[in-house]
Order: sequence, then C-alpha cells, then structure tokens
Amino acid sequence: MQRSEHPLIDEAALQQRVAELAQEVRRAYPDALPLCLCVLKGSVFFAADFVRHLGPEVELDFIRARSYLGLHSSGTVALTHTPEADLRGRHLLVLEDIVDTGRSARVILDWLDAQAPASVRLCTLLDKPSRRELDVTPDFVGFSIPDAFVVGYGLDHNERYRALRAIYILEPPAKIS
Ligand code: 5GP
Repeated sequence: MQRSEHPLIDEAALQQRVAELAQEVRRAYPDALPLCLCVLKGSVFFAADFVRHLGPEVELDFIRARSYLGLHSSGTVALTHTPEADLRGRHLLVLEDIVDTGRSARVILDWLDAQAPASVRLCTLLDKPSRRELDVTPDFVGFSIPDAFVVGYGLDHNERYRALRAIYILEPPAKIS
C-alpha cells in the first residue's frame, strides 16, 4: 500500500476547517465549554489544533478504543483507557478522527452515557457515512469523505503515516502489466 501522490485534504483546508469547527462548537455551547475527550491515538493532532482554537480555559482528557485491524474494522471494540476526570454532570464532547462503521463511537458514547454526564456530543474530523453499520450521527463533522482508507494528520496504517500534515488516500500499488 502507498499513499496517494496528492492529498485528499491538504494542510490549509484541514487547518481552516478545524478552526471553523471550533467556532461551530463555541456557538453550540454559549455558557461553558464542554470537557473535550480526545480519542487516542488517531485524534491527537486534530484535538491539539481544535482545543487551541476553543481557548485556554478548555479542559482536555483522553479515551482509547481499540478496534481496528488492518484495513477493516474488526467488529469488536474495547476501551483500553478511560478519562481521569469525573464525568458526572459534565458536558462532554468526544473528538474522533473518523467515524466509519460507527462501532467505536457507539461503544464510547454508550460508556460515556453510563457515567451520568449532563450531555454527550460527538465531533469527528472525518465521516464516512456510506460505511455506517450502527446508528451513529456525529453532531459536528469536519469533512464527509467517500469510502476510501485514509492516512495522515493522526490517522495511521499499521502505526505509520500519522505525522503527515495532510490527509491522503492509501492505495494498493499499481499493477505491472
Ligand atoms: P469504526 O468503528 O467507525 O468502524 O472505525 C473507527 C476507527 O477505525 C477509527 O477511529 C480509526 O481508527 C479506524 N478507521 C476507520 N476508517 C479509517 C480510515 O480510512 N483510515 C484509518 N487510518 N483508520 C480508519
């Protein structure tokens, strides 16, 4: 597999949209900012840029769901890290890198709902609605993308490509005829 020569979403478009998303979220929470929950590992760069647009008073914590094997979701999702903050009565905003089948987000949202928060909303940088298997509708979406496997800006393939500044499609090598 190799990444596409040209980005699907370049760095400038990513940075502009992340700033816009933060504005949308600010408008949706006029009274107090939500506790942001970065979903490890894929959301680290998105969350870092996003919360800095929200402002210095924002709180950030981390959650980790492991599910993905190779190019297809495994179907089983386990939370391997949960937030340290007390979530009871808090307004929570989950920061996801990508919602694909919806399995990871569903497990995270169900677990968070069980912690008796004041509210839970989902903000995803990327959404692949055509792949959805479970009923998960993000409240905030950066970009809707087609059914392709993408890497960069935190998204990996076997732990590689996370540090790319733009988002690329991962393609099989061209066939030699
Ligand atoms: P879901 O549970 O919605 O099927 O998948 C969510 C997780 O699968 C994401 O958090 C991400 O780790 C992984 N994933 C889904 N689609 C892609 C993709 O196109 N590229 C990469 N790198 N990971 C993906």
